[in-house]
Amino acid sequence: VTRDPLDWLLPLLAIPSISADPARAGDVRAAAELLLELCRTGGLRNVRLLEAPGAHPSVYADWLDVPGRPTVLLYGHYDVQPVIDQSSWSSPAFTPVVRGEAVFGRGASDMKGPLISMLVALESMLAEGPLPVNVKVLLEGEEEIFSPRLRAILQRHRELLRCDMAVSADGSQPLAGTPRVMLGTRGLCDLELIVRGARTDTHSGQYGGAVPNPPQILAELVASMHDADGTVLVDGFYDAVRVPSAVERAQLAPSGWEPLAEAASLELDGFAGDPEWTPWERTTLRPTLELNAIHSGYAADRLMTAIPALAHARISCRLVPGQHPEHVLAAIAAHVRRVAPPLVQIECRPGFASTPAYRTTRQHPASRAVAQVLTELYGREPLDNVDGGTIAALTLIEDELGVETATLGFAGDDENAHGADEFHRVASLARGRAAYRLLLDRLAG
Ligand SMILES: [Zn+2]
Repeated sequence: VTRDPLDWLLPLLAIPSISADPARAGDVRAAAELLLELCRTGGLRNVRLLEAPGAHPSVYADWLDVPGRPTVLLYGHYDVQPVIDQSSWSSPAFTPVVRGEAVFGRGASDMKGPLISMLVALESMLAEGPLPVNVKVLLEGEEEIFSPRLRAILQRHRELLRCDMAVSADGSQPLAGTPRVMLGTRGLCDLELIVRGARTDTHSGQYGGAVPNPPQILAELVASMHDADGTVLVDGFYDAVRVPSAVERAQLAPSGWEPLAEAASLELDGFAGDPEWTPWERTTLRPTLELNAIHSGYAADRLMTAIPALAHARISCRLVPGQHPEHVLAAIAAHVRRVAPPLVQIECRPGFASTPAYRTTRQHPASRAVAQVLTELYGREPLDNVDGGTIAALTLIEDELGVETATLGFAGDDENAHGADEFHRVASLARGRAAYRLLLDRLAG
């Protein structure tokens, strides 16, 4: 009786719900409205958009017919990353197509596919009878822009969203080997660094040697932030870091993760960073300070003998438990003030993201249920895992609703999320649906 997940997924993938592009706000809303329709026809109730000033809407739906049973908030996001270079795609990013065993399209893996798996699980269970637990669905439209207004939405609708625990479908599983229970993510904060010299660009023949050079100064500022091993030299950066114990390190070490093979897949001879930590630990358990962009002057097709008046850099930090985004940004600003040379103006502008790291435990009822589901699906006990990325919703849900969030999602790490030719395995849609059916049963137990 119930529909093929692709019947839901293909029309959703055709809508370019790019939250970062103001010109696409109408498309983001159209995707939200399609999801409202899918929730309604799938048997959910009280279906509505949750709004906050300036925010792309969140989609809400619920089914609350088993009083006395737990209420589970199911989280996903329906916005997608921009398509920077359509020419590097094999087919148009917003013309979804099934090729072989996979569905291709922007957002297929991150995370319209996993989100649809969750919704079709609810539909198929509701077609058979009552759900084993109460369910509230929350589908965000701003995850890919660091959830700037999710807190406002959660605050405005705190009563409506009240729940006992939450599960996010925004997650992945290894392609082979032992499944993983995701117990945490790194946080994120960012800033823009601007160096201003003379009032305008100046002729390097007329003024060179006597006016300050903003790109040179910016390069020196950025270079002063690390030593040769990649250790961050900003005073206070590591102060609050909770260092994982040897036991935690052993527990989280991924089995079968081959650093050299991984590096080779990136056409690298090895990995950079502090040799006291394994490459995997550097990407998950340790904080980073990364230069993401640097820009100054004219570099296109000829030599322009000018001294640029301006230089910009964008820096972001992945944070670990203990670190606070505002303290880290303040430490970087203090470092810049300390090492800044005279004659230029330097500005540290807070950026877009401000999310601390997130942790939950294997003992939490939602993570326990996720572990049981993975054991049933894979025929073996899952290992613990933490992720190097950031999902602001996990922290915001804990702050505003007071509940922890477990993760159950079946994106593959090779599915080109955020890249060209993004895809999601059709088999993972079915696996996700089966997993969410099992999950609701286990949560009732
Ligand atoms: Zn994403």
